[in-house]
Amino acid sequence: AGSASASTVKQVKLDRESELRIEVAYDSPLRLRLVTGTAEIFGTELPPQIWLNFPPRLKLAVFSWYGATIEMDGTTELDYTADETPMVSYVNVHAILEGRRNRAKATSSNDSDSSQGPRVIVVGPTDSGKSTLSRMLVSWAAKQGWKPTFVDLDIGQGSITIPGCIAATPIELPIDPVEGIPLDMPLVYFFGHTTPSNNVDLYKALVKELARMLERHFAGNAESRAAGMVINTMGWIEGIGYELLLHAIDTFNATVVLVLGQEKLWSMLKDVLKNKPNVDVVKLQKSGGVVSRNAKVRQKSRSHRIKEYFYGLVNDLSPHSNIANFGDLVVFRIGGGPQAPRSALPIGAEPAADPTRLVPVSINRDLLHVVLAVSFAKEPDEIISSNVAGFIYITDVDIQRKKITYLAPCAGELPSKYLIVGTLTWLET
Ligand code: ATP
Repeated sequence: AGSASASTVKQVKLDRESELRIEVAYDSPLRLRLVTGTAEIFGTELPPQIWLNFPPRLKLAVFSWYGATIEMDGTTELDYTADETPMVSYVNVHAILEGRRNRAKATSSNDSDSSQGPRVIVVGPTDSGKSTLSRMLVSWAAKQGWKPTFVDLDIGQGSITIPGCIAATPIELPIDPVEGIPLDMPLVYFFGHTTPSNNVDLYKALVKELARMLERHFAGNAESRAAGMVINTMGWIEGIGYELLLHAIDTFNATVVLVLGQEKLWSMLKDVLKNKPNVDVVKLQKSGGVVSRNAKVRQKSRSHRIKEYFYGLVNDLSPHSNIANFGDLVVFRIGGGPQAPRSALPIGAEPAADPTRLVPVSINRDLLHVVLAVSFAKEPDEIISSNVAGFIYITDVDIQRKKITYLAPCAGELPSKYLIVGTLTWLET
């Protein structure tokens, strides 16, 4: 383990059903290619002979079902091969899901229940490999020509868009091992915080809204309906986190619950769902390759996601710096806000801040370094139920001239003047 020498090509032979686990160096990329045999990265097959360029810090596994030779060029934090993996159990789950998709497809689309493909939700503690398993399941399905919907409810370490959001996107091709999920046209709802405890009711409201939109889409699209969905969740599984898992299972009408790496959670879910015969609760082993991340690493990776949104994966995009007048933008915060003082309330009433109330936010220096979402709403009262077009980052607020400078991924006017602010900030480095 641990090759840390200068840029030299290293060959690795993979036996059948084994994987090469790699942590790319912190400050330099790694080139890798498949020389002989077949291999895949999290469900996506590697093209033969072509060098792939992996960015610094990425953690990945190159898995081979039948054996392969891999070449690496560059330095790694760590690399080793492992022949004990849960991949066979994962691909068995995939095979069962395939059967259900085929059955759904063969059913007349008038029958809404049996024409619905599997709705899979992946749950488990932090660092149990939920995102990775979700990714494999959608990539394997896409390889077979399905267009499953990938839903990410993880507002901390989601893989569809920036942190603080829940989102869904159809997966039409196996996910690119370098680029990840294409950011083309996901359906995104902005929560604005990286932990749901900031506003649990808002989180639930957005989950409901996302589910409602997908339900509508499935009703008119037999192909998506039969392919079903794979839902990735947060690693928070205690207390409110557990309650939110149940809420998601219920709201999306999940039919398969995959529990990674925790017996206790599996048995709790199995017990509460025992009255729902159409819901399977399946226990799966966590892969020994999953890399644990502490709070600092998670914070860093959130920061990277935001940077990637504006600058691209390898600094290949150039965001536009735009200037707007204070009067051109209308900023709202959702929930919280100043509560009515107790003295202003009827006797016996408790001061309560409506968690989904829109609170107007005045533009001032507090917005500096804040990431805001641009709503698709036409009117303020549509903001909570609207998905967002994208994000801007405030780089300057000039109080005297009443001008605000912001970074956006593209030039031109914003699709809406309605912006949502939460607690999401970013320090450009
Ligand atoms: P979270 O707690 O954020 O929800 P998670 O349970 O979704 O995390 P993943 O994101 O799937 O966990 O995995 C954590 C990290 O481990 C990722 O960087 C992923 O690329 C890496 N990883 C997963 N499986 C393997 C493997 N078999 N070999 C090497 N790295 C892996």
